[in-house]
Formats: sequence, structure tokens, C-alpha cells
Amino acid sequence: MKILVTNDDGIHAPGIKILAEVFRQHGEVAVVAPDRERSAVGHALTLHHPLRAAQLRPNVFAVDGTPTDCVNLGIHSLLSFKPDMVISGINRGSNLGDDVTYSGTVSAAMEATLMGIPAFAVSLVTTDEGKNYAAAAAFAAKLAGIILREGLPVDTFLNVNVPDLPTASLLSPLITSQGKRRYDGVIIDKVDPRGRNYYWIGSADMNFLDTEGSDYAAVSRGHISITPLHLDLTNYNSMAVLNDWDLS
Ligand code: MN
Repeated sequence: MKILVTNDDGIHAPGIKILAEVFRQHGEVAVVAPDRERSAVGHALTLHHPLRAAQLRPNVFAVDGTPTDCVNLGIHSLLSFKPDMVISGINRGSNLGDDVTYSGTVSAAMEATLMGIPAFAVSLVTTDEGKNYAAAAAFAAKLAGIILREGLPVDTFLNVNVPDLPTASLLSPLITSQGKRRYDGVIIDKVDPRGRNYYWIGSADMNFLDTEGSDYAAVSRGHISITPLHLDLTNYNSMAVLNDWDLS
């Protein structure tokens, strides 16, 4: 298989190195990733300045842009092959619930899906540096094989979260729904050395509603979570409600 690997933690992050290493045992791998950490940039695309790609090794490129830029440059310019799949990760830290909308990791997989290339994002559920990237990479390789064989449903990509556990301790993968975060007290409001206020959006603790069948419910019990996402954000159920509004 031919794989394009990207991430939002940057090309030097441990997760992307291990992921690329594992996939090199299964086929041809290209890495196109941001040259520094670009977590939480969402689906941002750089339009107002040129991008540079530094080739570090054959088929390994560091781009001074976002994960979405990397997928675009990779597929349209840098790669010598068209990938069968785009894999984004392994992110240091979970991408659960509402956080997927901020995630550069998830957005890279979304971008590939827009281009019609099967894709998934994979994240290690950890609040520190993370220990078990190898276990997550092994599962990613297994999943990629299944996706190549089965194909993905139309307009669908997968958001995979793997608990930070050795392979033998990981519980069975569950197909899950996107969960919900609890938002509380996340803005740090302080005064800088020159007497001016500053605000810092605080670190996101694992604070989710424990909804049955959700991504959070799965990983908090030690299961691998696989959430199928699609690009159409329309809330079809609410269309009938809005159609009753007097908009004329
Ligand atoms: Mn990240």
C-alpha cells in the first residue's frame, strides 16, 4: 500500500515517526507534516503567503504550514505517487467529542476525504508525553489493512483514539459516536509584567460527558474508539423545525 502520513504535532513528534516506521513495513510511505507543532489549527488553509517544503530525506517533507496545507501540497505537488490512504497522527493527546472541530489531526484526514482518498486520524489518549505509540501504530496498521480490503462508506473518514496502554492491555475496538465536552473554567486571566491583561486558553482536561456509546465512554474504559465522521455538518432533524419559521 501507498500511504501519506501527516500530523499536527509536527514532523519531529514521536507519534508520526513511529507511525511512518510501522507503515514502511507494509508498503511505500511518504511523510508530509508541519515543520513545528500546529495543534488546534483546525482545518486552516494558508492562502496569504507562500509555503516552503524542506525535503529532509527521500519522501519526507517538512512544510511551514498547517496539516491541511500538508495534505494539499503532498497530493498535488510533492509526492511521486498517489496515496491509497492518508493517515494523520499519532497525535499526542486525545481527539474526542467536540474537540474534533479544533483538531489539525482530524482536519488533515477530512481534507484527504474531500479529495476522495480514504483517511483516518489516530490519537493516543494521554495527558503527558505518551508511552504506547507503538501499540497505537500497530492498531493503525491493522485498521489500514481492513480499510483497503473493505473500503470506507462514501464521504466518511475515521477518528481513532487509542488509550495509552500496551497492546495486551487494550480492550476491543468499539464503533462510537462523537461525545460532548464539559466546558468550565478554561480561560486564565492574568496581568503581564507591564500591567496589561492577558488571557490564556487553558489546557483541556479530560472533561467529557460519559454518554453511553460515545468516544469518551470507550477510551475511559480502556477500549479503542473508532468514530465514523462525515463532511456534511447539516443537522437534518432540525430542518423541519426551521422550515416552520416565518422567514418571508
Ligand atoms: Mn496535536
